[in-house]
Amino acid sequence: MQEEKGTISIHTENIFPVIKKFLYSDNEIFLRELVSNAVDASQKIKRLSALGQYNGQVGDLTVDVKLDETAKTITISDNGIGMTAEEIKKYINQIAFSGATEFMEKFKEANDANEIIGRFGLGFYSAFMVADRVEIDSLSYQEGAEPAHWTCDGSTSYEISTGTRSTRGTDVILHINEESQEFLNKQRLQQILDKYCKFLPVPIRFGTKSKTEEDGQDADGKPHYKKVEVDNIINNTQPAWTKSPADLTDQDYLEFYHELYPHSMDEPLFWIHLNVDYPFNLTGILYFPKIKNEMEIQRNKIQLYSRQVFITDEVKDIVPEFLMLLQGVIDSPDIPLNVSRSFLQADSNVKKINNYITKKVADKLNEIFKSDRKGFEEKWKDINLFIKYGMLSDEKFAEKANDFCLLQNVDNAYFTFKEYYEKVKDIQVDKDGNIIYLYTQDKAQQDSFIAAAKAKGYDVLDFEGPLDTHFAGYVEQKGGEKIQMKRVDSDVIDKLIAKDEQIELALSEEETKKATDIFEKAISRADMKVEVDALPENDLPVSITMDEFMRRMKDMAKTGG
Ligand code: ADP
Ligand code: MG
Repeated sequence: MQEEKGTISIHTENIFPVIKKFLYSDNEIFLRELVSNAVDASQKIKRLSALGQYNGQVGDLTVDVKLDETAKTITISDNGIGMTAEEIKKYINQIAFSGATEFMEKFKEANDANEIIGRFGLGFYSAFMVADRVEIDSLSYQEGAEPAHWTCDGSTSYEISTGTRSTRGTDVILHINEESQEFLNKQRLQQILDKYCKFLPVPIRFGTKSKTEEDGQDADGKPHYKKVEVDNIINNTQPAWTKSPADLTDQDYLEFYHELYPHSMDEPLFWIHLNVDYPFNLTGILYFPKIKNEMEIQRNKIQLYSRQVFITDEVKDIVPEFLMLLQGVIDSPDIPLNVSRSFLQADSNVKKINNYITKKVADKLNEIFKSDRKGFEEKWKDINLFIKYGMLSDEKFAEKANDFCLLQNVDNAYFTFKEYYEKVKDIQVDKDGNIIYLYTQDKAQQDSFIAAAKAKGYDVLDFEGPLDTHFAGYVEQKGGEKIQMKRVDSDVIDKLIAKDEQIELALSEEETKKATDIFEKAISRADMKVEVDALPENDLPVSITMDEFMRRMKDMAKTGG
């Protein structure tokens, strides 16, 4: 057969419904897309003015979102650069031709051209997920421009004519379709704006709200209040993460935490301000919560933004899993806005971001540990779960955390791996030269064993936490040379090379063996070990213990790991 080359053709009539349906999983984002276009248009006029390419007044750039329940419309109005009829044809009629990308190309040298949100030239079409007709009324900033009016019913044909807008900027009017009537509701729109637009860089107004204001004093000196209608501005245009850490106080960070999570009662333990611009762009603030229960974390999740537009709080593939226990915001224009999970996983920026965040978190913990060891120890109870989870699941994090991870003993003293190793390495040694770390998983139940170990001058670690069974294995491998972790009630204490010299035994060797046999027969279990301790002062002459290895295997089987 003859070789043939060609181009696959796309029929817009067919592809259009597919875009509408599958581009965004959630149709509420239409508002995010249109408001961010309005914000872009506003930023662009500021930019042009700063570059001396626009000599008129920039004026008030507040974006208005208006709801008309009777007309069944939602209107998004801005005082941005506007569009001529030609530009509407170019930017709106051509799907996936992003004017934002073109604008950035044109003004590349302008250092903050990347405050523009748009990227893909697809956002505008999300309007058709909720509207059966969309109108644009726009007046371009260009001198002598004529207002233009565009209307489209979601098919591939449109009408364009002279518009009515008399001031610079754009109105986008959505005629909400039958299935999307839920959006013709004030609370619903407020909720969507709160979710996606709370930190946009240009003020967004959604009608008015009533506010109680002091209004002079009564005759008896009591303050008098009145209700006033004020603009309902839904966003903070300068969220903390966009500022320099040097300009922020602890109070600012705490206030921002509550702005992010208005329903959280707790204060975070500490925070990390992220700020990189090479090799990728990322800012943000991560907060360390007191980890009490899963529920709290499920609610106050890390929020992902792209140029101050909320994207998602499902950050599973962007943030290393163990860091999902943290809270706060990450803002990166390098994280693609509206793409699928599998794309995110493959994205090399995402991987770099992952590594960067992990490193930053480890560095911050190390810094606190070094500068305020006591404070770090006080927080240990609240952060140890997080750190151990990180060490068990992320090698890079573990490497760093080996320096500041603490081992806590039953007397609430804290040691680094190194310190602990030094502490016991000459005292708790078995006949093969292994260094034996003793630990308890249940202080109350193993109380007598702990006392016995202490009486011999040994130290016992507190390993009662939910991850500690797994963590014991980690300490064995990474805590130092030849470490063996043994539960305090396993069969080792008496086999350690105690410093004490000769001890006089109450029973002869033969008598001890006989007694042991009797107990062993009585229990007859292979995984249990009987030890008759023949020390004269011993108040626990017989101990029945489970072999450490067998026991740990059982524990792991129980916790599923
Ligand atoms: P993107 O924002 O990714 O570029 P959109 O589909 O959201 O893609 O918008 C396409 C283009 O239409 C924008 O890049 C911009 O040039 C133009 N545009 C959309 N909304 C407005 C607006 N409110 N004011 C001026 N231009 C707009
Ligand atoms: Mg857009």
